[in-house]
Amino acid sequence: MKVKIYAGLVRRIIYGRKLKEMNFHFQKDESGKYYRKHYDDDDKGGIKRIKKYCRRRFLRCVLSDDSMERSSTYRANFFKHNKGIFGGCKYYFCAYCGRILNKHKTTVDHIIPVALANRSARHKRMLTVRGIKTVNDVRNLAASCLKCNSRKGSSGGLWIIRGYFGRSWIRVLLKEIILLILGGFALYYLYYFILSISLFDFK
Ligand SMILES: [Zn+2]
Repeated sequence: MKVKIYAGLVRRIIYGRKLKEMNFHFQKDESGKYYRKHYDDDDKGGIKRIKKYCRRRFLRCVLSDDSMERSSTYRANFFKHNKGIFGGCKYYFCAYCGRILNKHKTTVDHIIPVALANRSARHKRMLTVRGIKTVNDVRNLAASCLKCNSRKGSSGGLWIIRGYFGRSWIRVLLKEIILLILGGFALYYLYYFILSISLFDFK
């Protein structure tokens, strides 16, 4: 169970330090600015205490199910299961643009975004039909560069197809090679096309 505590600027100044002492992490995302902490599902006492703490201080406290939430370990989990190009654990392809990335520059993207899985039943079903129980399952993760990751944001559609396609580095490599060959052919024909026009003109 994840506990999120939303607080405005003033309350952040007053209670921010105390919440950090209680091991809450400050976070900013599409749902706003909040402090978050993970509680075990059977830690009923802890959850009750924090709810009481918030009620007394007029802090908005939201509990959410972990399975459709971004976990703190998905990144590590991704790298554990995906060894990258040639299994070296050093380089990864961006699933979306095919750029080669150093491991420390690789961001791990949720192919079906967390926000969509929370909001839309259709996207949640796209996960469950494949037997995926949480958005943080490695099958829903892909390596991505920072640029594509932020461009994608929480959009679905074609991004999801590209994400699934680009999940395997071999497929990305094949795609890049095919594009390179096609590009080569195009340049080759363009070159002769221009040559033939200019020859025609000058004669
Ligand atoms: Zn990219």
